[in-house]
Amino acid sequence: MIINSQILHKVISKIVSAAGSSADEASIVADHLLRANLTGHDSHGAGMLPTYLRSIKNGLLKPNTAAKLISENGSIMVFDGQRGYGQRVAREAMDQAILRCQETGLVLMALRNAHHIGRVGTYGEQSIAARLISLNFVNVTNHPPVVAVHNGADARLLTNPICFAMPGTGQTPEILLDMATSKIALGKARVAMNTGNPAPDGTLLDSEGNPTTDPQVLFSEPGGAIKPFGEYKGFGITFFCELLAGALTGGGTSQPMNPRDGSIINNMLTILIDPQRLVDLDWLHAEVDAIANYALESPQAADADNDIMLAGEPERLAMAIRLQDGIPIDPNTWQELLEAGKSVGIDSDILHSLL
Ligand code: NAD
Repeated sequence: MIINSQILHKVISKIVSAAGSSADEASIVADHLLRANLTGHDSHGAGMLPTYLRSIKNGLLKPNTAAKLISENGSIMVFDGQRGYGQRVAREAMDQAILRCQETGLVLMALRNAHHIGRVGTYGEQSIAARLISLNFVNVTNHPPVVAVHNGADARLLTNPICFAMPGTGQTPEILLDMATSKIALGKARVAMNTGNPAPDGTLLDSEGNPTTDPQVLFSEPGGAIKPFGEYKGFGITFFCELLAGALTGGGTSQPMNPRDGSIINNMLTILIDPQRLVDLDWLHAEVDAIANYALESPQAADADNDIMLAGEPERLAMAIRLQDGIPIDPNTWQELLEAGKSVGIDSDILHSLL
């Protein structure tokens, strides 16, 4: 089915409100999930709600919880997300870090113990809106591992996303690299399973360490694993997310002595930079335009799988189409949303009537 974006927003905020959130919090969560769908990242859109409701039921996600500043020292700020909705607490922590960066030019922000912060690009977009550059490193805890180490046969890590954000120049649009450091995000495997599609070749291992394209291996026992992206180089970055976002924020890594209660906790280490403290902005913009044009004007390789683009472009293209045509929601995901609604007292007819 195809759902208009405003209607999907209503569906999400109705369910989040019924699950106990204030109207403001429900609206933040709905804005975030909807934008993930609009940018083409269905893995981090409305389909996450059943997982969130399970976490609430198990006491692992606490609605109506704000980010708490637990220490600050000049341009270093440490926040505890207190297991609140990640979409809310990470946004609040970023808001405060952005304000500080406008004074100091540079901020190191640590956020620990947030429930799933969702599409990390959202926080890159927040820094871009304030004309700041951000480098965001995230790890995942409180969840059984799903990602193998390079050359490993079983899951030891998680999908540890990174997001690098650079404001646009007027000519060159903002550049937003936002990705899991596993070959595919776990949510993309969930979407593949729900739509009955195989995962791409070379991305998954079964529970015995053999290559497979069956996404079910990640959702059954004993579980399989997703491979890290970029062979040993990518694995190095995935591992640094454990060190920077896990260890350095105080949130913890995926090592086995840390709890694995089955929710998704994210920790994030963010570096915010005000570019005008380093270089003249006109010069910077001209240089960004020049390198962007040079990259985009390259002739296409014989084995190219797409047009040449800079990070952020696929999301802009998806958004233009989905704002106009609506968002595809597969029948399994819609069924899961109806069941999630029912679990918090919303009859399926009420959600159907919104369509
Ligand atoms: P992906 O594989 O679609 O990669 C997305 C990135 O690559 C984007 O920056 C995009 O602009 C860029 N890109 C894609 N195709 C391109 C092309 N042809 N040319 C140039 N650039 C291109 O994303 P993913 O790894 O599946 O991650 C999806 C989402 O999942 C992200 O928003 C991420 O933040 C989120 N995520 C969150 C968590 C969490 O724990 N909160 C964990 C993993 C992933």
